[in-house]
Amino acid sequence: MSRTPLLLPTSLKRLAASTKRGGYQVYMETFGCQMNEYDTELVRSIMKARGFQFTPVDEEADVILFNTCAIRENAHNRLYGHLARYKARKKERGLVIGVLGCMAQNLKQELLETRSWIDVLVGPDAYRRLPDLLTDALEHQRRGLAVDLSEYETYAQIVPDRGNGVNGWIAVMRGCDNFCSFCVVPYTRGRERSRDPEGILEETRRLVSQGVRQITLLGQNVNSYRSGAWSFAHLLVAVADVPGIQRVRFTSPHPKDFPQALLEAVAEHPMICNQIHLPLQSANDRILERMGRGYTRREYLHLVEAIQKKGPIVLTTDLICGFCGETDEEFQETYDLVKEMQYQAAFVFKYSERKHTIAARKYSDDIPEPVKGYRTNEIIELQKEISLQKNHALIGSKVDVMIEGDAKKSHRQWMGHTEHNVTVVWPKDGGQELPGDLVSISIHDATPSTLYGTAHSSCSVD
Ligand code: SF4
Repeated sequence: MSRTPLLLPTSLKRLAASTKRGGYQVYMETFGCQMNEYDTELVRSIMKARGFQFTPVDEEADVILFNTCAIRENAHNRLYGHLARYKARKKERGLVIGVLGCMAQNLKQELLETRSWIDVLVGPDAYRRLPDLLTDALEHQRRGLAVDLSEYETYAQIVPDRGNGVNGWIAVMRGCDNFCSFCVVPYTRGRERSRDPEGILEETRRLVSQGVRQITLLGQNVNSYRSGAWSFAHLLVAVADVPGIQRVRFTSPHPKDFPQALLEAVAEHPMICNQIHLPLQSANDRILERMGRGYTRREYLHLVEAIQKKGPIVLTTDLICGFCGETDEEFQETYDLVKEMQYQAAFVFKYSERKHTIAARKYSDDIPEPVKGYRTNEIIELQKEISLQKNHALIGSKVDVMIEGDAKKSHRQWMGHTEHNVTVVWPKDGGQELPGDLVSISIHDATPSTLYGTAHSSCSVD
């Protein structure tokens, strides 16, 4: 029969202190995409249900958690920097340190072997086990590991613990079956699973009752959503029909299986924003093939043509520069297509090899770093010019903006986004407007990323 070990003196001290404060205090940092932010809300909810408390001050914490991202090199480096800093503090104060998410899943062996001060490693499908593992680490100084991938886990019954605000995010599916050769997501988040639509609609209604007016539906490959007879287009329309919702967005769809019904939903439903994030990655067919993207340049352009026929729908994209074997000419094709496409915005990344991916096994990461850097900067600069021109063209016009909250630089200014997801900043005029209101803003200045204006009057949202 196994017996619970006696508490060690440090654990006893910590337990006594935490009991006094009403529970163990947790400080948590999140890296990476919106999906990770959403997972942090799930983790907070799971942990609070078991008596843990969250603090924004790391010095007050018994537990330090990092919810990590494995997609890019700089997210790795940031985590390693943070871990090194907390190693010293752990010695002084006996902290428990946990790494969650994609890096815990993908680099478990390396992290366990090289960072002996990590106490708990938990992958994206095992968050329900986190409270037990942390309690074990806090009270019995046992190291915990939970990195099983699940075919079923969608955290459907967990109500995410979110802050206030008019923006709400809902993960409608998890995982990805596409296996793009550069991407680690299928290995860190497992196979595709969709949530049941009723749970998603219930979550939408609850968010509306909490003051949310703008919903973004999230999925690694969101248009693969399927639950019984429900497609993603069907779900999107049902969410947009929920009373009280003013705007619905989604990210990210895959260009290889973008259905006509989804395009029609975007073009026709007044609450679905006329903006589509359509990752291109490369405009060269040989590189697209190596990336395993499942579409050619021509097919991508064909889809863009179909989108443009539907009306003024704005496109944004993702691009990778310096993928394995990319020649100057192949890069030039991407550069030229970005110029032609005139995206509203582009997220441009320098290729960095990720362990366990198809590209890491099959191709050589052979583009020198300076060349990768040069190509990345070239496209970033080009896109900045395009975004600036587009934003400049709006000077003198009025745009409808949802108030989201104070501007970053001044609480005397509001910040919000246009339907096309461009940031707008304007002075508060002492009126009655509140976050969630739609207002008309006259634009008088622009940068590549932000429009500046003055409030006009409230817009009708009916
Ligand atoms: S679609 Fe490709 S890039 Fe996107 S998550 Fe899946 S494998 Fe990664």
